[in-house]
Amino acid sequence: MAHIKNDSLPFAFFEGKIVPIAKAQINIQTNALQYGTGVFGGVRGYYNKNGKFISLFRLDDHMTRFLNSLKVLGESIEYSKKELIDITIKLLKRNAPTTDTYVRPFAYAGSLSLTPNLERDNPFYFAQYMIPLGDYLPTDRGVTTCVSSWRRISDNAIPSRAKITGGYINSALAKKEANSNGFDEAIFLNEAGHVAEGSAMNIFIVRDGVLITPSKTEDILEGITRRSILRLAQDLGISVEERVIDRSELYVADEAFFCGTGAQVAWITSIDRRKVGSGKRGKIAGAIQDLFFRVVRGEEEKYASWCTKINI
Ligand code: PMP
Repeated sequence: MAHIKNDSLPFAFFEGKIVPIAKAQINIQTNALQYGTGVFGGVRGYYNKNGKFISLFRLDDHMTRFLNSLKVLGESIEYSKKELIDITIKLLKRNAPTTDTYVRPFAYAGSLSLTPNLERDNPFYFAQYMIPLGDYLPTDRGVTTCVSSWRRISDNAIPSRAKITGGYINSALAKKEANSNGFDEAIFLNEAGHVAEGSAMNIFIVRDGVLITPSKTEDILEGITRRSILRLAQDLGISVEERVIDRSELYVADEAFFCGTGAQVAWITSIDRRKVGSGKRGKIAGAIQDLFFRVVRGEEEKYASWCTKINI
């Protein structure tokens, strides 16, 4: 596949061992490739130049969600959470990145059978790779958004609280529509017409000083960054609500921002061409963004337990 650009760090974990990324290849007939029968995770590692370490953000929680995604499918892999964490650390040390890094654990249905199935003869296998990753969305200038005409996949179609590979066609459609209409990012409504999240990130709005985010039962991925921000906001003395958000609340919000492992904390300047607040970084979004970046870089002692520091 020499014609495909590959940004990956040199080594991957594949079929039980660490191999050069070029050797981590699957057959085109693989069930997961054909039907999206896989689950994945995404963890960020922040590189500290002075300390020569990578700080992995909430690694344990990411691996819990990864295993829960498999559980939703009624599947399992041969590794425990502890083993997954050990593999991640070993692979990170082997790749020895000197930039911020994105870690992608992945489990896929490996059979070559024609049927999309989750049967016993179609076991899931674990693999992992890593890529250097800076900003996924701009975090300094604010992002423009639109409400997508695509609805967020619902719990009884493709369970949205599980990070299922096949479900990401939903994200890709929303992102494509937003980008082709000149916006940076999309906001999904769920089938009930309530605000759900971005294409691959959770959303918060601020109204009258209260930080609000859709509750866990609104067909969202239960983001680990979302959970972290709820905690940070409470610690900052900001009132928080997890509840249903109407579409039109987006248009009258004082502030809005996305959050996620890729997105980090990215504030929103406009929604459907309506300016959010002043169109600049809001007070609450700003306070949270500043604290968030200190926390993930391991600079806040209080949240040290969220950071796994790996010497490089
Ligand atoms: N929603 C979706 C659909 C996502 O893909 C992601 C990224 N994992 C998020 C939200 C944010 O979740 P987290 O903070 O755990 O990265």
